[in-house]
Amino acid sequence: MFRYFIISAVLAILTLLYFFNPEGSVFHLKCPFFVLTGGYYCPSCGIQRVIHNLLHFNFAEAFWYNPFVFIISPYFILLIITTWFDPKKKMSKLKNFCYNYKTIIVFLVVMAIWWIIRNVFPVFYIS
Ligand SMILES: [Zn+2]
Repeated sequence: MFRYFIISAVLAILTLLYFFNPEGSVFHLKCPFFVLTGGYYCPSCGIQRVIHNLLHFNFAEAFWYNPFVFIISPYFILLIITTWFDPKKKMSKLKNFCYNYKTIIVFLVVMAIWWIIRNVFPVFYIS
């Protein structure tokens, strides 16, 4: 039941992001970290613009809003598939890999590096 609620919420958010461009919109949520720190980006800043551009097949522009999304998306796709769409447990090794503490530590280290890089070298579109 919870799975269907999540899927419905994701579809609703994707529909909103398809029809309304977050760039310059007053209705889209601002990143709390960005607002509270007065201009420092969190690792996921720009993700609404990434999704909007992906839904419109603007892949290059989407990439430059937040390249980290493209780096971590295979991991999250595997996480979702092995957690929710493997009822016969055929992908248990893959699931163990996703939930292994070493994998999570690597993910957190890459995220921390990305977080530092994007605030030290602001070469991305985010405003
Ligand atoms: Zn943010």
